[in-house]
Amino acid sequence: MIQSLLIANRGEIACRIIRTARGLSIRTVAVYSDADASALHVRLADQAVPIGPSPARESYLVGERIIAIARETGAEAIHPGYGFLSENADFAEAVIAAGLVWVGPAPASIRAMGLKDAAKARMIAAGVPVTPGYLGDDQSPERLQREADAIGYPVLIKAVAGGGGKGMRRVERAEDFADALGSCRREAASSFGDDRVLIEKYILSPRHIEVQVFGDTHGQVVHLFERDCSLQRRHQKVIEEAPAPGMDEGTRAAVCAAAVKAAQAVDYVGAGTIEFIADASEGLRADRIWFMEMNTRLQVEHPVTEAITGQDLVEWQLRVASGEPLPLRQDQLVIDGWAIEARLYAEDPTKGFLPSIGRLEAFDLGTSVRIDTGVLQGGEVTPFYDPMIAKLIAHGDTRENAREQLADALDEAIVWPVRTNAGFLVEALDHPAFVAGEVDTGLIAREGDALMPPALPSDEALADAGAALAGSTGGFRLNAAPRTAARFLLDGQPVEVDLSEADSDVEQVEDAVLVAEGGQVWRMTPWRVDGMGGGGAADGAILSPMPGRVLSVEVAEGQAVTKGDRLLVLEAMKMEHVMTAPFDGNVADLAAVAGGQVVEGKVLVRIEQG
Ligand code: ADP
Ligand code: ADP
Ligand code: MG
Repeated sequence: MIQSLLIANRGEIACRIIRTARGLSIRTVAVYSDADASALHVRLADQAVPIGPSPARESYLVGERIIAIARETGAEAIHPGYGFLSENADFAEAVIAAGLVWVGPAPASIRAMGLKDAAKARMIAAGVPVTPGYLGDDQSPERLQREADAIGYPVLIKAVAGGGGKGMRRVERAEDFADALGSCRREAASSFGDDRVLIEKYILSPRHIEVQVFGDTHGQVVHLFERDCSLQRRHQKVIEEAPAPGMDEGTRAAVCAAAVKAAQAVDYVGAGTIEFIADASEGLRADRIWFMEMNTRLQVEHPVTEAITGQDLVEWQLRVASGEPLPLRQDQLVIDGWAIEARLYAEDPTKGFLPSIGRLEAFDLGTSVRIDTGVLQGGEVTPFYDPMIAKLIAHGDTRENAREQLADALDEAIVWPVRTNAGFLVEALDHPAFVAGEVDTGLIAREGDALMPPALPSDEALADAGAALAGSTGGFRLNAAPRTAARFLLDGQPVEVDLSEADSDVEQVEDAVLVAEGGQVWRMTPWRVDGMGGGGAADGAILSPMPGRVLSVEVAEGQAVTKGDRLLVLEAMKMEHVMTAPFDGNVADLAAVAGGQVVEGKVLVRIEQG
């Protein structure tokens, strides 16, 4: 077994690899860019070395630098994770040429599967069913148009060098083909430096089914069953599961056998995934599942396979890279229960899924399901890398049990002020079609708005937060009256809250309360404290938050007070509101008089910085 390992990656996958390496007593070396200097993977590794500025092409993509660091630190092997250099055959070759162990397939296998057209040609030769289409030997627009017409619309134009859901155009009608081809080529040229395309029949009722395969250096290849990754947004996976809903034993045997055949055709070693597209208009049928591409690396969604097989795929990778045979034979692998994974992205679904960056003041995903993450509370989400900040993986006896566990975990997720797609994921998991296992790759696009999380918390959640805020700041006290309304600021916007609905727990941050519900988080503050007409903690002016009556004044003009000292008590909207000193200072401009009525926004007292 190798004794030391450099991880040429970052984020959750770097952390996940380090975890397994540790368990195997392998010394770990992390590399990091400027933006990642205090990232979790840096802290977890035995040793960490800076590799350059924040942009990936100046750090995580600089192969020579990474190889040089492996040599300097005495690391025996390099694990590339996914993304970055993981499918770069030249890098794999350079690693091997430097006398290091490459945790991955042979460079020739990566090359064979690297371009979608060559990979498909190879699969056709090996007898693996491939998506019907044209492989694009002649790239002239006229020929491509003729082939598309012959295939029949809709068709999908795909960059042969594409990946990550980029470089694809669906074309509905012959007259739109030329424009779509032009735009696909431009995107392919700029993203992948290669503008060649292939054309595929666009499969209707498409489901993304993929098979985890594993090969070793002793010539064995096994599969670890299938995953369904049909829940996608813009061709990118959002929720994945294993096994695939509605997969019968016969179909499973056929698709898994095709995957093993595909891997064997390229002498595959290590972890790989064969992706298929299925026409599920009449359920999953072996004769309607076609090879789409192979990912020659560990996949983002590998944990669902780990959950249902009870295996650690990173451990398998490290054993295979060390020359050991596969830990299990095919007949020793069985499916246990069901697993579902959701990708938590730092993005705002309500703003067109715009990435959301910043410091994670609150980051709590609970402990009820497996969490693979690369960030910690207090950490930073930067604009430089993929916005995926965590994966949540639930494993249950049944699909429904896994689904409920995952939805509950996401429902309770607290991430703030960085926005996440957790609310959107909850809606997707609870969508009747997903519940029924009737998934296809168009579901998210079709349902769009129906999957948008609510803009405001429920009345109950608002009431809980209001009560907690009132209680924790000493600001409000509930009277016995049956209806007790109060005003607060929710993300700076006024809200009216019926406190009689109050019931459960909330998380507190400074002088505010985070309202977490359905995967979404809002920050609730007292009416007065921030944002209201300049009267607030900043300038020391204490305003009346609403019309009411002064019950008592507890300080005198000129008196020294310390932050948090009680100044006066106001009764408004059937509640007592204790106004406290926002900072240390002296009482000035004391306008409030016990028993006096006040209007909203009146300056009751001012604290001057001492
Ligand atoms: P998976 O099926 O594992 O999601 P992807 O092809 O989406 O496979 O790639 C996995 C990860 O690798 C992505 O989340 C992304 O970070 C990175 N990645 C892969 N290809 C690209 C690309 N062309 N551009 C940017 N990132 C990519
Ligand atoms: P990438 O390298 O970007 O992952 P893929 O070829 O794996 O590209 O395709 C990504 C996604 O696009 C698939 O998961 C599927 O949702 C959709 N897709 C790809 N090919 C087809 C097709 N022929 N018909 C319908 N959908 C397709
Ligand atoms: Mg793919």
